[in-house]
This record gives sequence, structure tokens and C-alpha cells, in this order.
Amino acid sequence: METINVRTRFAPSPTGNLHVGGARTALFCYLQARAVKGVFILRIEDTDLERSTPESVQAILDGMRWLGLDYDEGPYYQTKRFGRYAEVVAALLEDGKAYHCYCSKERIDALREEQMKAGVKPRYDGHCRDDAEPVKGVKPVVRFRNPLEGDVIFDDLVRGRISISNGELDDLVIARPDGSPTYNFTVVVDDMDMGVTLVIRGDDHINNTPRQINIYRALGAGLPEFAHVPMILGGDGARLSKRHGAVGVLQYRDDGYLPQALLNYLVRLGWSHGDQEIFSLQEMIDKFDIRDVNRKASAFNTEKLDWLNQQYMKNLPAGEVAQHLAWYFERAGIDPAPGPSLADLVSVQADRVKTLREMTDQSRVFYENFNEYDAGAARKHLRPVAEQPLRAIGGRLADLAKWDPERLNEAVRITAEELGVGMGKIAQPLRVALTGTAISPSIDKTLWLAGRERSLARIRRALEYVMARAAAN
Ligand code: GLU
Repeated sequence: METINVRTRFAPSPTGNLHVGGARTALFCYLQARAVKGVFILRIEDTDLERSTPESVQAILDGMRWLGLDYDEGPYYQTKRFGRYAEVVAALLEDGKAYHCYCSKERIDALREEQMKAGVKPRYDGHCRDDAEPVKGVKPVVRFRNPLEGDVIFDDLVRGRISISNGELDDLVIARPDGSPTYNFTVVVDDMDMGVTLVIRGDDHINNTPRQINIYRALGAGLPEFAHVPMILGGDGARLSKRHGAVGVLQYRDDGYLPQALLNYLVRLGWSHGDQEIFSLQEMIDKFDIRDVNRKASAFNTEKLDWLNQQYMKNLPAGEVAQHLAWYFERAGIDPAPGPSLADLVSVQADRVKTLREMTDQSRVFYENFNEYDAGAARKHLRPVAEQPLRAIGGRLADLAKWDPERLNEAVRITAEELGVGMGKIAQPLRVALTGTAISPSIDKTLWLAGRERSLARIRRALEYVMARAAAN
């Protein structure tokens, strides 16, 4: 591949969210451009006016931004280029490389039916190819005059050599009766005008490529290289779809995944470098080559994504993870000000949860008061026998010079020793007192996160509860 002036583009149709398949294509385009200091272009293919929505455009832009896939050019919008497409259609008509077709829908439908019956692939029969008479009152479509002879051959960077006979292609419609252009045509005009040198896209487009190559040739344009990447499958081997759960990139954000983890997950879907699993973005840029992408489809595996997400939560600087976490706090309506710093929180919680959302849910008690104890936890641990340990630890904690995990751990240990009980006899009632539940980080870290005042107040409250319970018996 040329290493100078490489230009790639990601060209989504805004007919839904940016889904993980699209995001992976975008990542591959991005990496391939960055690897050779080329240019990465974003183009919104919004010519399908009925199915394209401004919300989808926004979701694509938001998804790209969240993933950090910054583009050098664009977003270009096809709807802003209708004038240009019309100009190219006119030029092709002028050169006899395209023609008006007046065939009625009825005729095309009947033809198709006949061909299906005869067991041949439905294709236009060229009825209007040679000097069709205009039909009164009929607005014609414009068809591309596909060569009749020869083969289209190209070397796909992922799929290898692909060859198809022109005999199998028909004269495709490039402009509808209202003049609006069709996908296979606009994509060629755009890639040509935008100087795209490498087209990376899903292999659901592979059958379009020979048609597009013929259009490039008719326009006298040089061909880009092509790389068709395989689909992403669900766990059941079918093409990944909503049915399999989350497919939208922003859904993964909302569910609490770090963009770094999702990118890392996506790059490994169909690409590998030895047995390395974790790649920083820079490592991806350094090591990625589209030619190394596997031609077989790969299946989406949420457990692996979870694992990666946890690796990133644990191993990125806590302050960086905290910046992401702040977004989830805001969404959950938790004010982080009256609690521990989010970086401290991350350092404790990262290896206990799979997502930032879980982290948020499980950390609320360090920032806000809770109303009730979990019934089972209170029944088991806030019993009258808990009074003495809670009083003892409460007293010792009140006198503690410094509130750090080491000293807190020591305080619990010494209290247990003094009372001649195991650490658990102190830690469990204390945990329920502090968090309302029997599940939390280690007791020293739980105390540390809860902070001195909040911890002491909650111990007092638990004591009241325990005593009221004793009195009620
Ligand atoms: N707009 C097309 C799609 O979203 C992609 C076209 C291309 O990459 O050539 O499927």
C-alpha cells in the first residue's frame, strides 16, 4: 500500500445509532490513516431522505466523539452535494455512458417474475439501452451503461482477489425519476472527489464494489484500494442485531463502559497481534494493518468486553477513570462533593465492579445518606450482640489521629483483639452500619471512603437501632 497521502473515510448512513459494527469499521479507517499519517474523513450518507434522521446524525457524531475517533475532514453530508451528483449524471449522459430508461414499474416487475420463474438472477434486460423513445408523461430513471464484456477484478486487502464477470452485472439505476442519486453512484463520486485512496467498509458491500469500479472507470478516475471487513456476529452465529442486546455505541457508554475498553475490544474482533490483548490507542496505531484483518466473521463476546473494561478501570490512572465516572454520577443525580474524591473511589472500587455504572450504583452510600438497612443484613448483623463491638470500634475511631486505610485496619484489628473476637464480628456489623448492606469493599476501605464524620454518625445510628431492637425483645 502507498504510504503517502493515504485517505480513508467512514461513511455511515444515519438511519439509526452508531452500532458496534460501524464503530469497528470507523476504528479501522482511523487506525489505518493514523498509522501512515494519512487523512481520516467522516462522511454522512444521508441521501435516503426517508430513513435518515437528524437524531441519527447526532448519535453518530456523539459516538465518534465519545470513542475519541477524531476525523481530519468532514463531516461531509451527501445531501449538500446533490448539485454535484446531478452534474456528474449529466456528464455521463452526455458521454453516452448512461442513458434514460422509461421502463414502467410493471414492466420491470414482470421481467423479474419471468426471470425468477426461469431460475435466473433478476437483472435489467437493457430494454432502453439503445435509443429508447421518450414515453410521454413518464419521468425516466438514469441507468449506468455497464460494460457487457470482460471481468471486473480487484485485490481486496482483506478478502484477496475478487473477480466477477460483467455479464453478471446489469445497468444500474444511478438517478431516480425525481433526479435523486442512488448509493452506488454517490459513493463513487464522493470517494473520487474526496481523493479517498482506501475504502474500508463492511463486507455486506462487497457485491457493490464491481459495479462501483465500472463507474470509476467510466468517470476516468483512478481506483482506490478496497478492504471489506467481516460482519460481527452475535453469540448464536447470526449477524449481530438488537436481538442480541446492546448494539449501539452510546448504549455501551450508558451501560458504563470506558471508550478505551470498547475500542480495545473492537480492534481485537478480527484482528490480532501475537497474543497481546491490551492495546493503548497508540499501540493500535503502531501495530494495526488492515491486511492482517481476518476474513472470517467474529462473534461479539460481552464477557470479554467486561473483562477489558475492568482492566482499564484498574490500570488507567484513577484520575482519568474518575473523569468518566463523574458523568455517571451526574446522570444518577449524585453530587460527589460531600464524599470521597472520585479518584479515591475508583482506586477502591475498580476491581469490584465490571462497569462504571455499577460503580456508581454501589457507591451512592459514600455520598448520600441511606434510608433503610437491608432487611436481611440488619437481621443478621445488627443484633443486640453487636452493641459492644460497635461501641468499642466507635470509640476507637473517634480518637484516631489520621483517617487512612492502614490506621483504620489497625483500629478494627486491635478492637477485635481486645474483645477477644474475630475481625468479622466487628467488620460485619460495622459494614451494615456504614453502608446499609452486608456487601462493600474491605472494611478499612469502606471506612476510609465513608470518612470520619459520616462513619461515626452511622455507627451511632446503628447503635440506636440495635438498642431499640434489644428493647423491643
Ligand atoms: N453508507 C454505507 C453504509 O452505511 C457505507 C458505504 C460505504 O462505506 O461505501 O452501509
